[in-house]
Amino acid sequence: MKPLRNLAVFCLVVTMAAQENSKPATVIRAGALIDGKSDTVRRDQIIVVRGNRIESISDAAKATIPPGSEVIDLSHATVLPGLIDSHTHIFLQGEEPEQGGYDANILYPSLALRAVRATVSVRRALEQGFTTLRDLETEGAGYGDVGIKQAIERGYIPGPRLFVSTRAISTTGGYMLEGYAPELEMPKAAQIIDGPVEARKAAREQLDHGADWIKVYMTHRSWVGKNGELVSQPTLTVEELKAIVDETHGWGKKVACHAYGGIGLRRALDGGCDSIEHGLDLDDAAIAQMLKQGTWYCPTISPYYKDWAPADTPTGQRDRKRAAVHEVSFPKALHAGVKIVFGTDMGGIPWSEPIAQEFSAMVKLGMSPMDSIKSATSRPAEMLDMEGKIGVLAPAAFADIVAVNGDPIRDVNILENVQFVMKDGKVFKSGGKVVQ
Ligand SMILES: [Zn+2]
Repeated sequence: MKPLRNLAVFCLVVTMAAQENSKPATVIRAGALIDGKSDTVRRDQIIVVRGNRIESISDAAKATIPPGSEVIDLSHATVLPGLIDSHTHIFLQGEEPEQGGYDANILYPSLALRAVRATVSVRRALEQGFTTLRDLETEGAGYGDVGIKQAIERGYIPGPRLFVSTRAISTTGGYMLEGYAPELEMPKAAQIIDGPVEARKAAREQLDHGADWIKVYMTHRSWVGKNGELVSQPTLTVEELKAIVDETHGWGKKVACHAYGGIGLRRALDGGCDSIEHGLDLDDAAIAQMLKQGTWYCPTISPYYKDWAPADTPTGQRDRKRAAVHEVSFPKALHAGVKIVFGTDMGGIPWSEPIAQEFSAMVKLGMSPMDSIKSATSRPAEMLDMEGKIGVLAPAAFADIVAVNGDPIRDVNILENVQFVMKDGKVFKSGGKVVQ
C-alpha cells in the first residue's frame, strides 16, 4: 500500500502545482524598485505575481511576460514592499483631551463600537500601504484584536496582516485607569499581576486566547527628577518579567516591553525582553546590553512631539524632557548598530494622521532614508520571524507591494502618499483610489 499512497500524494502535489501555474499572473512594471533589503534601487523591473506570491523579478529588457497576464503599469513610480508598523493600537482613537482623553475611550463606547472603529483603523493602515501591523495591546478591549485579525484573515474586512498582543500586562499601580476615588473598582486597561505566579498565569491566558506577542509595561509614570533628569516609575520585578519571558519563549513567541529608562529599562533587559518600546532614555549600558542580547528597538518618536502640556507645568516640563532625551538616545542607538524598527504608536496618534510621518522623524534624527525604509520592511520581518515572506520584494515572498510617485530616497515624506497597494496579490488601491 505504501508506494501507492506515496504515488497518490505525489500526484496531488503535481496537480496542485499545475493549478497554481495555471492561475493567471499579474505583472507589475516598476520604474524604480526598492526591495526592502538591499541598498540599491533597481530601474525598469518586471514583477510577476501569481496567486498571493511573487513568482519572479527581472529586468524589463530580459523579462518574458506570461501570456494572458494582467499588466499594472507603475513605470513612473517607485515600487516597494508593503510597509510594516511595529507599534500600533487599532483599538485606540487618539482621544482629544477636551473629549475626555484616554479614559473616555475606555469608559463610554461599547465593545461593539470599539470593534467597528478598529475596523476603520486597519482599513486606514492598509490604504496607507501598511500591509502588516504589530498591534501592541487593545487598551481595555480584551481579546478584540484576535477577532479583528480573524475577520481580516477570513476576508470579511480589508486590513493588514496583524500580529496581536491582546491585553498586555502590568502591576498594581502600573496602568490606567487611575486617579479615581479608591473606593471605586475602576477597569484597568491592562491585565494586572503581582508576583511571578500571577505573571506566568497572565501570559498563559493571553497566549491561550491567541496572543502572537506578549506586551509588558516595565515603566509607567514619568516625571522630571530633582537633577533635571527624566525619571520613570518601574513596574514588574525581574522575577515577574522572567516568568513571562520564560513562558512566552516556550510557546515560540516573543515579549515586547514598554520601557522609558532607568530601573524599569534595566529590569526589562535583565529579564530578557525581545523588543524595547519607546526607549526614551537609553544609557550606554542599556545600548551595550541591547547589542549583546540582540534586542530590537522600536523608538516611536512622533507621539512624543504631540499634545505637550503648557511649558510652565510639571507635565509640560516632563513632555519636553521626554522628547529631549529621546533625541539623544535615538542617534546613539543608531550609530551603535542597535536593530531599529519603525513604530508609531498609532491610536495614541489619531488614525486620521499619516502613519508614514515616523519616516521623517527618524531621518531628522540621523537615519538614512534607505535605512528608515528597511526599518519598516525587512528588519521587522526578521523580528516577526517572517524573513523572506514579508518586508521584501523577492521570489516566494507574499505579494504585499506598494508604490509611490517619486523618489522616497530623496524625500521620505513621499511615503505619506502611497498611490498603489497590493496585499496577498490582490490590488486594494490603484491610482490613489481604493478599489476593494
Ligand atoms: Zn503604545
